[in-house]
Amino acid sequence: MGLFGGTPAVKKGDMIYAWTNDAEIKKKAELGGAVTALWKHALESKAVDAVLAIRKGADIYDAQPVLITDPKELASTAGSLHCGTLLLPKYVKKYLDGAKTKKIGVTVKGCDVMGFLELAKRKQINLDNIVMIGVNCGGSVSPILARKMIADKFGVDPDKVHKEEIDKGQFIIEYEGGHKGISMDELEEAGYGRRSNCRRCNYKIPRQADLACGNWGVIGDKAGKATFVEVCSEKGAHLVSGAVKSGVLATEAANPKGLEMRGKVEGAMFKLGDKWRKHDFTALGANLWETINKETSRCIKCYSCIENCPVCFTAADELKKDTLMIKRGELPPNSMFHLRRFAHISDTCINCGQCEELCPMDIPMALFSHAIRVEGDAAFEPKLGKAAYTN
Ligand code: FAD
Ligand code: SF4
Ligand code: SF4
Ligand code: SF4
Repeated sequence: MGLFGGTPAVKKGDMIYAWTNDAEIKKKAELGGAVTALWKHALESKAVDAVLAIRKGADIYDAQPVLITDPKELASTAGSLHCGTLLLPKYVKKYLDGAKTKKIGVTVKGCDVMGFLELAKRKQINLDNIVMIGVNCGGSVSPILARKMIADKFGVDPDKVHKEEIDKGQFIIEYEGGHKGISMDELEEAGYGRRSNCRRCNYKIPRQADLACGNWGVIGDKAGKATFVEVCSEKGAHLVSGAVKSGVLATEAANPKGLEMRGKVEGAMFKLGDKWRKHDFTALGANLWETINKETSRCIKCYSCIENCPVCFTAADELKKDTLMIKRGELPPNSMFHLRRFAHISDTCINCGQCEELCPMDIPMALFSHAIRVEGDAAFEPKLGKAAYTN
């Protein structure tokens, strides 16, 4: 039976609306607090030993990973932080022994799920001990760029903003003295908005997690008050059933019209992702070597792109050694330094954006890596995440 016992009332494949009965969680939650309530039940019932989630640090730009073992502390993790660009699987590998001995619950975006799957393939993570609650993801915004965008495009002091949300295609801020929304399309045309890897991303509803939770498809009197939950696994079915039984979660069947709308929004997001791929990859293809040479000429060989990549970490130490073509201390490094890494991730890059986001020289590494992987996918098998995702 795995982590959970008994026969669940909810089944794999069910589509439901869910919300919490816990007043404290409800107050802080994004859309009814189902995710946090499910974690509360998971900890209280000892289905997991700890929950790895994200909570607000100093301000809305400061998304911090936190490991919770006391269910009373979970309310502090409720709410969505759209400037939270972290990738959680690497924390499980690095600090939690790859979940080899402890059962860990993790809230995941699509790129987190893909990171877990790739780490599991490399035997760095024990997926049997992981429960994943997925959140649908339209995209996240780099915290540094968000501050600049809020100052330049919204004309608001970024330090005065206490809440942000992405709703109906707008980035919306609440600040001392008012609130303001600007369409994401307009922001992205101006070079702001979602990270460039997120624009190209097609992991929208994370069905490879145990549950996929989000706003899309919640209509009628539950709009804004509940989360749409797709039950994607037996583990997920047990978790929801147990939480309902314990009283922390309430559910009802999803409205069929809402289900249809959710499918349409997902389809529209795929089209948008394809549009950005065409835009980014065509421009890159027109001037490939010049662009890669020009951009990587700034490289200071700090290894951050290697160390933070979920799929090339095993090679991190090897990639630091001298070879016939790559010499320690040579700056900028010989092109082979980057070519070798591109070869390494050519069939596994999950387009999570960590290499680009954490590059101190702002080199668009995720663009190069993603383009190479998509080209590879077009020709070779096996394709990344073939079972559930388009690319
Ligand atoms: P809560 O009970 O409020 O719990 C939220 C959970 O999300 C907590 O566990 C929290 O730690 C975690 N979390 C917060 N920020 C992050 C982050 N950056 N990365 C990983 N985990 C995080 N739904 C849609 O239908 N369409 C969208 O386009 C969409 N985009 C999203 C983009 C981001 C970056 C995030 C984080 C969520 C997005 N969602 C989207 C999901 C939606 O905002 C809610 O998270 C979901 O409906 C669950 O609501 P809740 O009240 O049950 O969650
Ligand atoms: Fe969301 Fe995809 Fe960006 Fe990850 S890469 S934050 S899943 S849009
Ligand atoms: Fe993520 Fe970059 Fe590694 Fe690709 S190469 S998986 S975008 S860190
Ligand atoms: Fe070079 Fe940037 Fe990678 Fe550092 S993170 S090694 S500067 S490309």
